[in-house]
Amino acid sequence: MAIEPKASGRFERFDTPDKPRGNANGWYRIHSPQAASFGIWHMDLVETVTLDGPSDPEAVAAARLEAMRAREQRDEERRQREAEARAKAAQWWAQSRPADPTFPYLTTKGLPPYNLRQRGDMLLMPLFLDGELVNLERIFPDGAKRPLPGGRVRGAASLIGQLAGAEHVLVAEGWSTAAALHEAMGCPVVVARNADNLAPVARRLRQQLPEGVAITIGGDDDRHLPAQGLPNKGRVSARHAALAIDARLLMPTFCDGCEGCSDFADVRQCRKGGHHHGE
Ligand SMILES: [Zn+2]
Repeated sequence: MAIEPKASGRFERFDTPDKPRGNANGWYRIHSPQAASFGIWHMDLVETVTLDGPSDPEAVAAARLEAMRAREQRDEERRQREAEARAKAAQWWAQSRPADPTFPYLTTKGLPPYNLRQRGDMLLMPLFLDGELVNLERIFPDGAKRPLPGGRVRGAASLIGQLAGAEHVLVAEGWSTAAALHEAMGCPVVVARNADNLAPVARRLRQQLPEGVAITIGGDDDRHLPAQGLPNKGRVSARHAALAIDARLLMPTFCDGCEGCSDFADVRQCRKGGHHHGE
């Protein structure tokens, strides 16, 4: 769907193609025949473009200034939302109680609560950035996981075990994978939450830990994805994170005939009691 740009000098909205129709997530402003700025809200994107025609340095400068102001405002709003979520996280964490080991998610995974606590009918996983609690991931009885809205997520991570004195640290995507690795290997395991956050978390960890401490990325193997024509996101992201900090890479090995497992937590359950087999 092409849009017909309106040179109104005001903010105009448009639908971005990656979201449902009517999202109005994009905006642009044409300042003059020579310069325009545009942005996409959910991507934190602001750009200035020069249109065809004779150059008009003043209009271009005005557009750049406009784009800069828009970006500053977006940053300020984001910082505000992150601060609110941080305060809520601190409050909820302080009010939380030890996690009930019979919580459905834990019994399904066959794992003890480790670093999780509980609030009502949700488990809470603390998310830290530079040693500060910045957010909480809520784990619901059906296994759905959601961080607090507006809270910082990029680079933020959780930890099972203790970093102090450790000679070997692992990084994994999800909590259950991290818990399974911690149980099997005894070393601290950092939970990055998802594939995209593996590299940012690994980089921060490498900067924070002494040089002699070895880091291993424990990847998920999303082996069901290539069959759907999609890349194996878990494997690609784990390799990318390992390359980024020159870490070792550890991928799960699956038992013969098993098609359901994709991560270390699955494999652990599988070996324990044929959880996925024959189902
Ligand atoms: Zn299996």
